[in-house]
Amino acid sequence: MKQIVDFHIHSPFSRGVSKNMKISILAAEARKKGLDIIGTGDVFHKQWNQYLQENLSYEVDGLYSPSKKESNTLFIATGEVEDNEHIHHLVIVPSLKTGIEIAIEFEKKNKIKLSRYGGRPRVNMDASQLVDLVREYNCLIGPAHIFTPFTSIFRENKYSSLKDCFKESTAKVDFVELGLSANSAMADKIKELWGYTFLSNSDSHSPKSSKIGREANVIEVDDVSFSSIQKSLEKGKKSKIILNVGLDPRLGKYHLSFCYKCRRRIVYIHNPSKIYDEKFIYFEKENEKQFMISISARKLRCPACNGLLKLGVNDRVELLATTNKKNTKRPPYFDSVPLVSLISKGLKIKNPDSKTVIKEYNRLIATFENEYNILLNASIEEIRKENDYVGKKIELMRENKLEIIPGGGGNYGELV
Ligand SMILES: [Zn+2]
Ligand SMILES: [Zn+2]
Repeated sequence: MKQIVDFHIHSPFSRGVSKNMKISILAAEARKKGLDIIGTGDVFHKQWNQYLQENLSYEVDGLYSPSKKESNTLFIATGEVEDNEHIHHLVIVPSLKTGIEIAIEFEKKNKIKLSRYGGRPRVNMDASQLVDLVREYNCLIGPAHIFTPFTSIFRENKYSSLKDCFKESTAKVDFVELGLSANSAMADKIKELWGYTFLSNSDSHSPKSSKIGREANVIEVDDVSFSSIQKSLEKGKKSKIILNVGLDPRLGKYHLSFCYKCRRRIVYIHNPSKIYDEKFIYFEKENEKQFMISISARKLRCPACNGLLKLGVNDRVELLATTNKKNTKRPPYFDSVPLVSLISKGLKIKNPDSKTVIKEYNRLIATFENEYNILLNASIEEIRKENDYVGKKIELMRENKLEIIPGGGGNYGELV
């Protein structure tokens, strides 16, 4: 059977996370989205874990249902850990109880109090030690948002291969998480990653429809259980990921390279008529690669403010690329835009979470069951009958023809 899963979210105990991140709200929003399973996030945080145990009921092998039965969406224990090189890793855990056992072991081994770090613990171990430890507890683990500029394995001047980072434990890495600013085609430019399962997760800090499930994985499982999920995420030929649904990478907030100080984004065009404007810096496309290398070597400064330039995900991938062949074994990746963003654009309302937008969102959900069904399956004609603008945009989305102003430097991209 098919299951749609978003493995990566955060709890209110992590920095910058909405207070509304509660089981009842998450469960209701996940149902509208069409998520069958959602990660609990922050499972190594004792108070959040306690809250989860009080508000979830054990269903079957590693999966939990909301105690008040707000929806059929199930929860799976997941958490993110930062290693001693500021690299984030996503861990999928067999049970809430195991999450606490691991947290206690982190504290013992590192002689630290995890509560210091909020929802995402920082441990005094390198990536290989971390992998070894959580694998002893039968967890699945992989580096999170692998290309983001500050806390990822492949960030500028950090690692350029999994092997350099995980050393003799590389074989134990189960998957890599692409992050919002990348998709499968981009990551497959690195030949080493071809054999690895790609996960696309929301990394959401809010339960709003614009955030949770903006990325998800469609997987084939024998039954709904931790062991079946574990099996379906296996590497290579055995992987049963059918589809990655992800934010169009251009919408991600770290897609383009940027100035660290003024946050202008860098675009490469032929014969630019100006060097910069309010939002962008323009470099000659002819010398694109040279610019990327100079940025990486810190040899180039912002022409607008003299600030330090930093590589975005797109340029970082270009510098890491080892092949331009297509990985024909990779499951398809659907570049998407959250439904609320389409609705708000159609209504010319800036805030995708405003009342009017949500009202229209709920109306469409009532007609078409859930959001993924609208984005992926529903007939364009039927959608256009309900909302002409949204229908037209989804038609373009399915053909990969949406016009988007790419994001960067912490600013999300924008639909044109
Ligand atoms: Zn992270
Ligand atoms: Zn600048």
